[in-house]
Amino acid sequence: MKGNKIGWCDMTVNPVTGCPNGCEYCYARMMNNRFKWIEEFSKPQFFQNRLKDFHTKEPMIIFIDSMSDIAHWKWGWFRETIHAIYENQQNIYLALTKNIKKFNTELRCKFSLPARLFIGATVTNNTQAQAVIDAGGADFISFEPLLERIMPEKLEQLRCKWWIVGDLTKGGKPQGVTCFQWVDDMIQHGERHNVPIFMKDSLKYIVGETFRQEFPSGWKGE
Ligand code: SF4
Repeated sequence: MKGNKIGWCDMTVNPVTGCPNGCEYCYARMMNNRFKWIEEFSKPQFFQNRLKDFHTKEPMIIFIDSMSDIAHWKWGWFRETIHAIYENQQNIYLALTKNIKKFNTELRCKFSLPARLFIGATVTNNTQAQAVIDAGGADFISFEPLLERIMPEKLEQLRCKWWIVGDLTKGGKPQGVTCFQWVDDMIQHGERHNVPIFMKDSLKYIVGETFRQEFPSGWKGE
């Protein structure tokens, strides 16, 4: 799907639909309930034909698991997706997981990951930050929604290719949960250690003129 409200990708392509995580606020499950793409959202299914959408004319940043969690993909699904990525190396491919430990131990260590594929972990608080650190880290971190100040020693250990930060939203509206100071800590840290930060639009009114939407170098062609 081209054009999206996510903001940090150019398009979404979902080889897998469905996820057993059962997050209360899951938008993908809500959409599946409406359109009935699969019978039971908690039982993911693979749609091999969607991989042809990786074949783009222009380089794109493609989010590949907005309707699933890559840590729950079967090996065969992951293998076929990796194969399609190797055949379409004009793009950047991003996946997010709430189970980075499972991904790192069951998939990352068993496959040779393409250089254009980056796996991100979700961190909304310090407990999750520690879990990601203990699991060996991720290629990028999505702090969305940022629900508390992430301690500097944890930020230090979560240094990686890219940070995405956003406020809690409901019905698309920012809830003002994220504080300016928490984001400012991250800006200072990011600037010191060259971690680009992409802020979701939900932060615009919280951070004012420090608002930024940065990408890792080379991802946007520069
Ligand atoms: S991890 Fe994502 S796809 Fe899975 S239930 Fe949670 S919000 Fe939905």
